[in-house]
Amino acid sequence: MFPAVFVSHGAPTLVFEEIPAREFMAGLGDMLGQPEAILCISAHWETPQPAVSGAQQPKTIHDFYGFPEALYRLRYPAPGAPELAARVEQALQTAGFQAAIDPGRGLDHGAWNPLTLIYPDADIPVTQLSVQPHLDPAHHRRLGQALRDIRREGRVLILASGGAVHNLRQFAIDSETPAPWAIGFDEWLNDRILAGDEEALVTYRDHRPDARLAHPRDEHFLPLFVAMGAGGGEGQPGRALHRSFAHGSLSMASYAWG
Ligand code: ZN
Repeated sequence: MFPAVFVSHGAPTLVFEEIPAREFMAGLGDMLGQPEAILCISAHWETPQPAVSGAQQPKTIHDFYGFPEALYRLRYPAPGAPELAARVEQALQTAGFQAAIDPGRGLDHGAWNPLTLIYPDADIPVTQLSVQPHLDPAHHRRLGQALRDIRREGRVLILASGGAVHNLRQFAIDSETPAPWAIGFDEWLNDRILAGDEEALVTYRDHRPDARLAHPRDEHFLPLFVAMGAGGGEGQPGRALHRSFAHGSLSMASYAWG
């Protein structure tokens, strides 16, 4: 069985950067092994209700602006996973969500950026699941809980992609030193995940005065709760796969449950 994994994908230039997080992701595929298919929950797909991508051959979406031309030439030509998408839709509907397939959606950089490093051969079918930033972390944990049976079958990798600390207004190209609020939030997150304290995590804005700095909006944090829901539960702790910072205060932490 594959753990449910959360990765912080950082900047779109991740694939070109010589930073510890890139090295970590380049080794993650060997650590995890080869799934039959991947369900990627991406911070860069926001919809009012849960949506699952159903394309046979998803196109690579370059959903960012003002980056080096080489980044726009990258493609991640993995096949789609419409059968898995249909099972995810069914599992979510059974759990009471108004989930639907989006047949035209491609792979955004929340998915293809880390996947280019984790599974560079692009030969494993991928489908995406969206986030709903107008809904809370508890909603996203429930989404993950609805995916537990699919994970337990042992053939699908649930890969959530967002950011553990993500404030682009605090983005610094060269800064080596994270801000104290970023370190503090990142430490608290790590402690609570390793303690299996899901209740504190889903209500994180009530516990952390620095939450607004760490996450001005929730969208990059929400995929973490889907992974936690899919692999955690009953006080079961998650484990840290990687921890570092990039571009100043962007946490690149990665966690696994199950
Ligand atoms: Zn992002």
